[in-house]
Amino acid sequence: ETRSETLGFQTEVKQLLHLMVHSLYSNKEIFLRELISNASDAAEKMRFEALSNADLYEGNSELNVRVSFDKDAKTVTIEDNGIGMSRQEVIDHLGTIAKSGTASFLSNLSGDQSKDSQLIGQFGVGFYSAFIVADRVDVFTRRAGLPITEAVHWSSKGEGEFTIANTEKAARGTRIVLHLKEGEEEFADGWRLRSLVRKYSDHIAFPVLMEKENLDLTQEEDKDADQTEKTPAQVEYEAVNSATALWTRSKSELNDEEYKAFYKHISHDFADPLSWSHNKVEGNLEYTSLLYLPERAPYDLWNREAPRGLKLYVQRVFIMDQADQFLPLYLRFIKGVVDSNNLSLNVSREILQKDPNVDKLRGALTKRVLDMLAKLAKEDADKYASFWKEFGQVIKEGPAEDYANRDKILKLLRFASTHSGTSEQSVGLEEYVARMQEGQEKIYYVVADNFNTAKNSPHLEIFRKKGIEVLLLTDRIDEWMMSQLFDFEGKSFQDVTKGELNLGEVESEEEKQQQEATAKQLESLIERLKPVLEARVSDVRVTHRLTDSPACLVLGDYDMGLQMRKIMEAAGQ
Ligand code: ADP
Ligand code: MG
Repeated sequence: ETRSETLGFQTEVKQLLHLMVHSLYSNKEIFLRELISNASDAAEKMRFEALSNADLYEGNSELNVRVSFDKDAKTVTIEDNGIGMSRQEVIDHLGTIAKSGTASFLSNLSGDQSKDSQLIGQFGVGFYSAFIVADRVDVFTRRAGLPITEAVHWSSKGEGEFTIANTEKAARGTRIVLHLKEGEEEFADGWRLRSLVRKYSDHIAFPVLMEKENLDLTQEEDKDADQTEKTPAQVEYEAVNSATALWTRSKSELNDEEYKAFYKHISHDFADPLSWSHNKVEGNLEYTSLLYLPERAPYDLWNREAPRGLKLYVQRVFIMDQADQFLPLYLRFIKGVVDSNNLSLNVSREILQKDPNVDKLRGALTKRVLDMLAKLAKEDADKYASFWKEFGQVIKEGPAEDYANRDKILKLLRFASTHSGTSEQSVGLEEYVARMQEGQEKIYYVVADNFNTAKNSPHLEIFRKKGIEVLLLTDRIDEWMMSQLFDFEGKSFQDVTKGELNLGEVESEEEKQQQEATAKQLESLIERLKPVLEARVSDVRVTHRLTDSPACLVLGDYDMGLQMRKIMEAAGQ
């Protein structure tokens, strides 16, 4: 080995390593899932690069992953013939964390182990999870296309540093050898490893091979003797997983566990998804999509630069991660795969921006997601409530961003209202309309900084008296969203603090006459008040909207609401 050097891990890696080893202890078996997942990614990249340069295959285009073990040496080895890594790639990928937001992620950690293990799951543990069970990890790798002598040996004990040296490796790809910690010997076992591959990696699209074990009882006794005599050429391997891309299989053939495992593979999420939608479409636009709704919002949901988007495949060949052209921004939390026959295999991000098929796919996939959400709302109120808590504020960007689907999006919105009286956003517009009073023509709402202010607004007095429901909006985005909305099912939206109140047919003739009489009586008072308040208000009117308070401030129909004023002020306007 030549050009050997010892390098320190990036600070974030050290923190992550420490955290992982301490908080994922009860979930330690996931290291195998992570390493096989990386091997599969590397195989996909290999196939992709070979599309334009078949020489990279070096005569071996059967991509696979091998898992083996040595009971005596207490090692587990995961080997792939994927793309491999150059020396620089090894330093970049196995010494730092490239993901954006790592620092902010780490600063979010609370020190509470159960909470932190949730967070770390969201972040995706990846390669470093090897150190949960190993106290030394050796990586031997050669990038496809580089000479045999340009292979790299990386080694680390997972403490502060790693060494890296040049070595020779005949086969391209990566071999990772885990030297198991004292007490983790259970993983150097064929039965254990097989069951883990089946549990976590069945959906991997490449064969995960393990040495055939002869389970015939008569031969069991001299199995050990047998193994030591075998030369590598004699070893027979068999696939332990199904080795077909999961989304290409039919729905009826897949169970929930398989869908969930696949979700974890593509999302790096630790938790199960809340829901998913798997569709195969044939005809002019041919595609298969598998879209997942996560249970929890990622920590970087509000970071506009955060990676998002679907995994794109063309005719089952992996093309790219984070293809963000296939869903609108307000659905950025959706994870999944789209595999289309309408795009060309040498498609790039630039080409995607111009391809009209992309727009068609985007339209179709957006509908899939909205339908999945509508179905969830209808069939599982609890799950929908949990979805709304996590992602409701993002969905509220939808009506403005996606005019074509406005009606569908409006049906998905949930609000707090005077009907329930709690701050939980649980009332949908369809429900509101169904409860409207006879003669009520508008959907009433009030916007305030917080729930208590909204609920105690003097503007609500008349509505309470008449038993008319008012939506109580308190999210930062609400006023802006409402300014984009005109009506829902023919009923217009009305801010109760704005302009003249006209409660339509809800008011009886008798009430109207009474109101006019009162107005006449108060005319002289109004005439005296107007000059006094002139500098501060634009008009003084008799109102019937109050029952307990003597007076209130009302905004003009076209005035900016209070929330918007604050946002503009904060922005220095
Ligand atoms: P992620 O898979 O989310 O990118 P990981 O920590 O699992 O994060 O892996 C970090 C990076 O190391 C990968 O993105 C990849 O570039 C590289 N890598 C890991 N394992 C392999 C492998 N078997 N073959 C080639 N590259 C790999
Ligand atoms: Mg990974």
